[in-house]
Amino acid sequence: MIKIVPKMKIFKILLDEKGIKPTYQRLKILEYISENTKNHPTAEMIYEKLSKDIPTMSLTTVYNTLNSFLEKGLVSPVTITGTEIRYDFNTSSHHHFLCKECGKIIDISVECPFSEGEKSISGHKIEEIHGYFKGICADCLVKMRTKVKDQSSGPYFKNSAKISSSRMEKIKAGKDKIIL
Ligand code: ZN
Ligand code: MN
Repeated sequence: MIKIVPKMKIFKILLDEKGIKPTYQRLKILEYISENTKNHPTAEMIYEKLSKDIPTMSLTTVYNTLNSFLEKGLVSPVTITGTEIRYDFNTSSHHHFLCKECGKIIDISVECPFSEGEKSISGHKIEEIHGYFKGICADCLVKMRTKVKDQSSGPYFKNSAKISSSRMEKIKAGKDKIIL
């Protein structure tokens, strides 16, 4: 018979195994990161979301908890932006894409010759591989294309609406011309 183990119980076991006391706040932080692997949250994002339900939670607690998670390898740091650490529940080696438009960090599946097993490069032993790409995500590209279309039609209508009624009278009387 398959026994369904609640997620929180698994997290409790995980923290116990790593020698981290599984307090309610620590469990909630781990749960949040595990549920948000698509956006790779920062400490601030985690704090902002969780402190709404747990008012006693402080940003310092979030930072300290994340540091101990990193130390024990429970989560991995994603440092693409260079100004912040984003946290990833997926600790296996994988590549990322940073959207410069919306700030989203997306997992990218890349055939990486170094990903499997113990490898070396120019005689150096590889222990970690971090690959990242920067650009504009597919969602933002769609938004930008729609915006460009709006702008090309926008000024046309704005200009035609700007013709005053007195000028329109002159145009009708042949005393003014609309230059196209
Ligand atoms: Zn984007
Ligand atoms: Mn990731």
